[in-house]
Amino acid sequence: MENTANKLERKTQSQIDLKQQKCEIANSDSCSNLNRSHQSSAWNLNSCVSNCCTRSANPFRSKKTQSTSDISRSHETWHRPLTNCMFDSHFKNTNRVDEFQIEHLVARGAFACVFKVFPKDKPQEHALALKTIKKSKVIKNNCVKQIKEESDIQKLCGHHPFIVQHFDSWQDRRHLYILCEYVSNGELLSKISNFTNELIRLYVAEIAIAIDFLHNAGVIYRDAKPENILLTHNFHIKITDFGLSKWLKLGAKTRTMCGTHQYMAPEILRSEPYGHSVDWWALGVIIFQMYTKKFPNFEEVMKISVSSDDDKNNSVSKKNFFPEEFDSINPDGKDILIRLLDINPKTRLHSVISLQKIALYKNFKIDKKYIQNISPMDIIKKENILLYNSAEESTFDFQF
Ligand code: ADP
Ligand code: MG
Repeated sequence: MENTANKLERKTQSQIDLKQQKCEIANSDSCSNLNRSHQSSAWNLNSCVSNCCTRSANPFRSKKTQSTSDISRSHETWHRPLTNCMFDSHFKNTNRVDEFQIEHLVARGAFACVFKVFPKDKPQEHALALKTIKKSKVIKNNCVKQIKEESDIQKLCGHHPFIVQHFDSWQDRRHLYILCEYVSNGELLSKISNFTNELIRLYVAEIAIAIDFLHNAGVIYRDAKPENILLTHNFHIKITDFGLSKWLKLGAKTRTMCGTHQYMAPEILRSEPYGHSVDWWALGVIIFQMYTKKFPNFEEVMKISVSSDDDKNNSVSKKNFFPEEFDSINPDGKDILIRLLDINPKTRLHSVISLQKIALYKNFKIDKKYIQNISPMDIIKKENILLYNSAEESTFDFQF
């Protein structure tokens, strides 16, 4: 059985309320360095990575008090540390950090920091995202396999137009690095103030295509939420963060209890074996947020989750499950929500083919080529949708 407690702990930590993350970022010393680095754009990436990711004593370093035998050994050929060997299969040992110049810190999670960087030998247009992950935390929390899967899955699935492209993975003594394309317009809900039916239809189709692609590739995503859905320069979506993803054949089940609470399907909360349809539940929660800026009533989801099968059909529970804002949603929106936020994973909508058949998509082809030719910006302009300031400004409380 997979290491449930650790995974949950890892993700629970990483899902700290965004505002809390903002405060942490704004208050940390390393980030005041990063503020300065943004102004000068000339800070050394090595020092920024260490500053940002090394807040507590590193367990591997603290054991370094040299014994006499260590000193005599220091004249011998240097052996590669175990902490490198254990990641060798997925993270190269060629350290490329010096090739990049840091622009600024994009986000800091429990394990990882994401930086916007530029290759030193290329002009400014070639922005990239560099995710740096502390090895000591990965090892301490028993997430070695998981982090390898993250890199692997992104490498193999990143060619999809609605998934963040992976370029390289490597390691040095203390960190793992994942280099990927930089997605410039930030997180879905941090950029767009309100969603009209037309915009929801487009974005839901894009997310659904990405989820469907992952499922058919034998991947369960398990972390669909607005923070992991980014907007490109032309406002199409790209999903990122495969930290909870897992290779799982379509139709197979797993039981690791992990995810972000508000987006976790009832079957996960019930600790039952679950399959790919948990990602469709999470999509339902995201749509609910787009329509109402609220979550479905989480307490009620929990109650329904632990109740018996008979109680699950109780209409009172179902009614309480949606807050009153649900009543103001148009019929097509209500329809998709009811189909996705279905307590029963067997009857829950779980493919692009079935999505195509519902009222919301009556005159809309859910096809990636067709969708790529639609301009979200045209919809945003036509419907007077307010955009928040640039991703960096709206996401973080940096004082430049
Ligand atoms: P974590 O596992 O800590 O959640 P993520 O991979 O989700 O790490 O990255 C954290 C945040 O960094 C994301 O929510 C997003 O705001 C930002 N981010 C991640 N990848 C990129 C990227 N390729 N381009 C731009 N921003 C990114
Ligand atoms: Mg994330």
